[in-house]
Amino acid sequence: MRRKIVVGNWKMNNSVAESETLALDVLAALGEGFSGCEVGIAPTYLALEATGRILEGSEVQLVAQNCHYENDGAYTGEVSARMINAVGCTSVIIGHSERRQYFGETNATVNLRIKKALSEGLQVILCVGETLAEREAGVTESVISSQVREGLDGISSISPIVIAYEPVWAIGTGKTATSAQAEEVHLLIRTLITELYGKEAAEALRIQYGGSVKPSNAAELFAMPNIDGGLIGGASLNAEDFVAIVKAASR
Ligand code: PEP
Repeated sequence: MRRKIVVGNWKMNNSVAESETLALDVLAALGEGFSGCEVGIAPTYLALEATGRILEGSEVQLVAQNCHYENDGAYTGEVSARMINAVGCTSVIIGHSERRQYFGETNATVNLRIKKALSEGLQVILCVGETLAEREAGVTESVISSQVREGLDGISSISPIVIAYEPVWAIGTGKTATSAQAEEVHLLIRTLITELYGKEAAEALRIQYGGSVKPSNAAELFAMPNIDGGLIGGASLNAEDFVAIVKAASR
């Protein structure tokens, strides 16, 4: 059985002090000794260290929202996998649609970032998803297939990787894919991974859904056979909502 995984992506929200408060609120809402599913939170780079101190000794993992593919050098504004590792991150989100849309991230740079993160021993959350125009043009399958194949090119083991299916049209829009729409793409991803890495590896792969997940729709999404948790944006900024989603995944 795959262990579900829920990660809160705080994006460019919260000062360091606000991040500390929110992390404390999440821990309080989860309660002592929580071990229902794998949980992580991804504050801004600036707040990683302080948030990590709050999470120390808890079950909640510190996750980074991105990392660069070089260790250091002339890459203004970037942070390396080695640096986020040193600050206590155990996982990193790579290829989020906002990175692809606003910062020129491509499948090729996603691939480089994943390779570097893996070499640092980090778990990678690879984000894939189609835009509304792509869905309407009927090319969802080919878009997802290229993002998965090119993102994973040359990577020999899928075991340190989680894939997050996030339809771009559902992110931050309040529009959620129906559980059937999400399940269809999750199954497609698992089939692709079977082709690339074999049946056993594909069965073990966790595939999160992301896109306007809320306490009210989480249980239905997580009940689908190929949905193994969620990558949560907006709702993760409220401790009670985030923990309600975590608890829905833990049932
Ligand atoms: C996200 O950005 O990963 C996301 C899923 O956002 P939201 O939950 O706000 O749609």
